[in-house]
This record gives sequence, structure tokens and C-alpha cells, in this order.
Amino acid sequence: MKYFLLISLFSIQIRSIAQTKKADLIIQNIAVVDVLHNNIQANQTVVIKNGRIIEVGNKNISKNYQSHQLINATGKYIMPSLWDMHVHFGGDTLKEENKWLLPLFLANGVTAVRDCAGDISPSVIEWKKAIAENKLEGPTIFTSGPKLEGPKSIWPGDIEIANEIEMNQALDSLQGLKVDFIKITDNALDPALFVASIKASKKRGWKVSGHAPVQYTLNELSDAGLSTIEHLGYLMRAASSDEERITLLRRENKISAKDASLQLMQSMDSATAIRKFKLLAANGTAVVPTMNGSRVVAYLDQDNHQHDDYLKYLGPALKRTYAWRVDRAAKDDASAIIARHQSFETAAHLIPWLYQAGVPFLAGTDAGYLNSFNYPGIGLHDELAMMVHYGLPIHEALKASVINGPAFFNQSENYGSVEQNKIADLLILDANPLMDIQNTRKIFALIRKGTYINRTNLDKLLAFTKERVAQKEFSEKK
Ligand SMILES: [Zn+2]
Repeated sequence: MKYFLLISLFSIQIRSIAQTKKADLIIQNIAVVDVLHNNIQANQTVVIKNGRIIEVGNKNISKNYQSHQLINATGKYIMPSLWDMHVHFGGDTLKEENKWLLPLFLANGVTAVRDCAGDISPSVIEWKKAIAENKLEGPTIFTSGPKLEGPKSIWPGDIEIANEIEMNQALDSLQGLKVDFIKITDNALDPALFVASIKASKKRGWKVSGHAPVQYTLNELSDAGLSTIEHLGYLMRAASSDEERITLLRRENKISAKDASLQLMQSMDSATAIRKFKLLAANGTAVVPTMNGSRVVAYLDQDNHQHDDYLKYLGPALKRTYAWRVDRAAKDDASAIIARHQSFETAAHLIPWLYQAGVPFLAGTDAGYLNSFNYPGIGLHDELAMMVHYGLPIHEALKASVINGPAFFNQSENYGSVEQNKIADLLILDANPLMDIQNTRKIFALIRKGTYINRTNLDKLLAFTKERVAQKEFSEKK
């Protein structure tokens, strides 16, 4: 009898402890978007503490917690917040204006960005650290630091290498900067050194993002270890049955760039494309289409973007970096304009072939300085919509941002779903994103590292940037 009493007292005590578990935030009556399985779980409760999801379940689980904040989200949808896997911070006189872009990402539901090189890496690394320490409001930043290029490239702020000794010194210095991945482009870099740089970077444990030098086939670059190919245009040649022959001619300098691209375009077919894309998929090489920027430039004749509402969020000096592409496009005659459209549409039609072949997609905009009217923050929604428009299923487009983004940085344990133990970077939407990709724009609230930011406070982030831009524009006019 005595024993029995003791045991029952003990169990009562256990239960009362269970009833007073502490939480920071509970979201009730919300539909959880399962991006991976293209599925919705209705009427869920999400419990958050110390910046992480600690439990997801039916409404009964609320009883077990005492929470500082309780949100009834009837009719709303919750999913992981967005990652933009290709942005640029840059312009060495534009540091302040770049910094004003940071709140724009959060206001548009983007909580992580992959900075694919620019010329203000020390500032980017400083912001990355400040954001990680909660001293600055902005998305989590992953950066390549300065990119690798060849001597006298057109890109300011890059690291220019001419041989393997310089390559290794460059990688040493990037290691010192603790960059998150390596970016390599092909403007002036010797093609063989490009391939050597991929291999050396991989050996040191980095993933490698790059353009694709014409002197190698895409499969050769993928075999060398290229992790992501940026911009759909570079993928076109793999759809050509003539790729190997033309690549050899380019390597030996026996064909002009114009003739090569013309011949490649004329010899594209879906069977060849899918066969070669399957080899990329087998290597795990992913594609970052960056269609938003390409579309803007391709169709400048139809939309010059001079009256876009979003321009009010971009600093005047940053906006001026947009001019060069506009000026260049203005010089195009009718046939050049048609060629521009054709080139964009041909590249865009690779999307379903890449998907069929199983090539992983990453959602990235190429937004930032120099890249005309490709807007930081809102641009990611345009990019997702465009991937869907050209044939990617909606949940695959979302996956390209919220699942494949974190996976690129080996962060799948922390992000990618609304599940226990994940970091609470979450988006609450007014409508189901799996039904219509445009619904990602209907942001009701953002949860950032466990903190609930309602629409009013998201709008304040936009207002913060808008005011700074307006002040600078005013002072420039004086
Ligand atoms: Zn870029």
C-alpha cells in the first residue's frame, strides 16, 4: 500500500512537470506544407523554443506547453522560409546601398542567400557575422568571397590566377576568409586552370559553383566535380548532338563563338539533352537557372522597367549600375532583339528536360548590382514562378529553394521542413503554395530564428529601406 502511494504521487508529479513545459511560440490551427512529399497536413500545432521547432502535432499538444506567444493561424499555411541561391552584393562605392538590401530579403520571406561573388567581400563577411550574432537584421549569408578568374578579367574584385601556384595561393587565402564555397568564372581564366581549380577546391572540401568554359563539354566539367552550373544558357550545348565536335573546335580556336553557338542551337534535341543531363544528375551536378535576370534583359524591348514600383527600394547608385545593360540593349536592331528572345526561350525549354533527367535545381535570381531590374527579395518569387511556367512542378520549384538550398551547404538537418528539431525559419502564407506558386507572395508572417514577425513589422523592414533610399535621392538632387 505504501509503495503504491509513493508510485502514484511520483506519476502525478511527472505529469504536472509535463504540463508546464515552456515554449516561446505556439502556432495553432495551421496547415503544414510538406514540400518534399507535395502534401498538406491540416490543423497542426507548431511549437517553437530557442529558435527551433520542438514539436509538431495535433491541437492537443498545446496543453502540454506554457508559451509566451500563441498565434491562431486558422486558414493559413506554414512552410520553410525561402533561400535565394544566387545573389550578388557588390560595387565598391555602394556598400551602404547593398546593406539596405538586407531587410528586403526578410520582408519577402527570404531568410538565406548564397552570395556568388562581388567586389565587397570584406563587407559581406562582416554582415554575415553580424547577422549570425543577431546584431544585424538580414538573411543568413553564405558567400564564396572573391571569385577565381584569369588575368585582366572584366570582373572587379576577383582573384586572378595564371598558374597552379597562384591557384593554390588563392585557395589558401579563401580558406583564411572561411568562405562557404568557391565560385569560378571563365572570362579570362585559362580553361585547363578552370578545371584544375574545380578539382583542387573539391579536394579542400568545398563545393564549386561556376560558369562553363566553352573548351570543355558540360559532362567533362561535371566529371571534374563542378557542383552547380549557373545560368541556363550554359546548359544549352549539352542538348546538342554536336557538342563534342564543336567543343574540340573551340578548344583549338578553330571556330568563332558566334558560329559555335549557332551550330549548337541548330543541333539540339530532347533525347540527346536528357541522355547527357542524366550524366550530370549521376554526378550530383545541380543547375541554378537564374531565369529572372535573363528574362529581364531578353525582353527589355517590351518592358524597360522604368516604372517598376520596387525601384523605390533600391539606392540611386545601385540603380545606376543597371544602365549598362539597358544602353547595350538599346543598340540592338530588330534581328538582334529576335535573337535575344530566341536565346532565352530556347534555354528556358531545357527546364522539363533537366527535370526528366533528374538534375537537381537550385532557385537563384542573380539579383543585385549590375543585374538590371532583377530585384533582391521579390525576385525569388519571380524566379520560382518562371521555373513553374516553363515546366517544373510547383513542389519541385519550392524544393529548389527550401530543400536543395540548405542541402548544398550540408544543412539538411537544420532546414527543409516543418518538423521537430529544425531551425524555426518559417513562412506563414495566406494561401496554399502547392496549389499556385504565386501564393508564396501572400506572406502573412515570417518566423525568423524563432521570432514571430507579423505583416506590419515586415512592412516596417520595407519602409526602413525605402526611407533611406528616398533620403539619399533627395540629398543627391540638392
Ligand atoms: Zn551571378
